[in-house]
Amino acid sequence: MKAERIRIRGQVQGVGFRPFVWTLARRMGLRGRVLNDGEGVLIEVAGDGLEGFVAALRQEAPPLARIDAVERSALEAGTLPDGFEIVASAGGTVHTRVTPDAATCPACLEEIRDPQARRFGYSFTNCTHCGPRFSILRALPYDRARTTMAEFAMCSACAAEYADPADRRFHAQPIACPECGPQIWFERDGQTVSGQAIALAAAALTQGQILAIKGLGGFHLACDARSERAVALLRSRKRRPSKPLALMGTLPMIRAACTISDPETVRLQDAAAPIVLLKRTGGAQLAPSIAPGQTTLGWMLPYTPLHHALMDAFDAPLVMTSGNLTGEPQVTSNAAARAKLARFADGFVMHDRDIARRLDDSVERITPSGPMVLRHARGRAPATHPMPPGFENAPQVLAMGGQMKGAFCLTRAGEALLSHHLGDLDDPLTWDEYEKALADYTALFDHSPAFVAVDAHEGFRATQAGRKKGLPVVTVYHHHAHLAACLGENLWPRDGGKVAAIILDGLGLGEDGTIWGGELLVGDYTGFARVARLEPAPLPGGDLAQRDPWRNALMRLDGAGLAQVADQLFPDAPRGLVRHASAAGINAPMSSSCGRLFDAVAAMLGICPEHQTHEAEAAMALEALAQTEGWAAPYPTGDGPVITTAPLFHGIWDDLTAGRTHEQIAARFHATLADAFATRARRLLHEGRAEAVVLTGGCFQNAVLLDYTVRALQGHHVLSHTRLPANDGSLAFGQALIGIASYETRG
Ligand code: ZN
Ligand code: ZN
Ligand code: FE
Repeated sequence: MKAERIRIRGQVQGVGFRPFVWTLARRMGLRGRVLNDGEGVLIEVAGDGLEGFVAALRQEAPPLARIDAVERSALEAGTLPDGFEIVASAGGTVHTRVTPDAATCPACLEEIRDPQARRFGYSFTNCTHCGPRFSILRALPYDRARTTMAEFAMCSACAAEYADPADRRFHAQPIACPECGPQIWFERDGQTVSGQAIALAAAALTQGQILAIKGLGGFHLACDARSERAVALLRSRKRRPSKPLALMGTLPMIRAACTISDPETVRLQDAAAPIVLLKRTGGAQLAPSIAPGQTTLGWMLPYTPLHHALMDAFDAPLVMTSGNLTGEPQVTSNAAARAKLARFADGFVMHDRDIARRLDDSVERITPSGPMVLRHARGRAPATHPMPPGFENAPQVLAMGGQMKGAFCLTRAGEALLSHHLGDLDDPLTWDEYEKALADYTALFDHSPAFVAVDAHEGFRATQAGRKKGLPVVTVYHHHAHLAACLGENLWPRDGGKVAAIILDGLGLGEDGTIWGGELLVGDYTGFARVARLEPAPLPGGDLAQRDPWRNALMRLDGAGLAQVADQLFPDAPRGLVRHASAAGINAPMSSSCGRLFDAVAAMLGICPEHQTHEAEAAMALEALAQTEGWAAPYPTGDGPVITTAPLFHGIWDDLTAGRTHEQIAARFHATLADAFATRARRLLHEGRAEAVVLTGGCFQNAVLLDYTVRALQGHHVLSHTRLPANDGSLAFGQALIGIASYETRG
């Protein structure tokens, strides 16, 4: 009889892995034991058919498990018990890993819809394969007493399920039922309304009212997505005129409005239940102002029992946007909801399970190049990402990230833990959230960094805080961090050689003290050189240039000798003032920002508002136009290290006067960027100066730009993002890798 010690690494704790092993071993007549320890799950097993056992471990693993490695070694069978047992975790030293929150599983969904079941209609039904995790966690180790379920004592029926290894709810920490668990209620003007909460909520929604609904990681504001009146009311109350609103619906509801490919269906149904951007095809029944001018809609499936019950009762798509004041984080407590959301909401769906951690909905899309993560949050965090080869034994690092899309990264023992999306750190409340999350993750990962990596921009809150940690600091340039984040995500080895990096981004401080944006670098984890860039232009008014696309158009047109065109296109704008200030160099820093170039072109076409209400508004409008065209002939950009923009603006003006459509011009503009950068990157490959091409930076969230650039590089080794955001959300991961590379070189 053979005996083995089997080590399983990956996401294998808190996901029902031990009872799964127990069930499997008993089924196969094996003896031995299974336990959790600091490295994952350890199995000691003896019997016949161990090959089949190991194969089944992988094939039949519980839904939330992710096996990264299985390591086997021989064992003396004499030490094993006669049966098969689950050994309790060794107290104190073991840190059970926390898994992300997971959408309601099919078995639980069946239960809440079954009138005979104990949990019929119960909003907090969950099991080992689904339910809240990170959002209810107060401290580690992850057990009920340290979650917001601690207040609810288990009834005897729940306790029996919890203790039974054969039950789906064995050690499901948030286990609950209507007898012992949290409850929901419907509230108006601070008063509980008597009656069934879901029925009251559905009735209010039917009347076109706006509700605040307490979810998993925060409150949502919801309304009937078919009612233009309700959506317009929500927009006016939230003072959010145009930013697309997320939707919640069932698959048939989504199919009525959008095409869904197989990979998109898989994404929607993922345990993370992200918002997925889907191509709009119909949706005549939806309110027009949900996503004005957009060719895509953001949908998510109901992901908690409460959502399912509401969806069943209301039977139509809902707008589900985050419940917050503009610029502030999403509200999580009942008290804050009453204080802050009362001005938006006619009623509240409340419950008495506290949210320990704010988590926004994740946002993802499927492009021809694979999946794309736009916002890394609920359902995806906390998750570890393997470090590339060569970084296995690196010291522990804390990387602080950027400013506009705050997120930090901790590394330890060959893994990187990238935080969830925290938002714009300019907002003081969001900054508080950042600091709280950093303390949380530090405890979670049992982390004590050897040094800190920060962005070179000294005005960033995260940079300033990083410098105050009392640790050695490695300063990393913004665009270099983007390069390394993409390399790291693709597991590019530390000694893998240099790459050409096309970084099309908003704003980031460069090594020459100017604000970089659209750059072609050649480099690796240890360093970089700039090979080409977009021709710089002034950002007139600094932050105002970010808000007002026409300011960027004015500068580009003036620079191209088309001042008269600018006069004609923006007759009412304060052009003289802006021109005077920029000529005098007053608050008009030079920048090669690719994001602002998008703004300039959109403003020239007149497809964006005078003042944008969110950063990517103009760029998204251009992408939507280009999407309806195919590849189009690029405008000329010269041949040198500066990608000149004068010919581009002349070309656009010629096309406009010749009566070409906005769609054609938008497509030509995308093709111009793709062609200009890809041509120069290919040259680096041919000259042997780079081994592959990296595509990164916030502008690569634009699926048309990504697709065109990938096509322009066909036949070459291209690395892009599929699991982490291309935007500043993954900056911290790149900072950490560069930090390690330069810290260790320095000694
Ligand atoms: Zn379940
Ligand atoms: Zn119970
Ligand atoms: Fe950036």
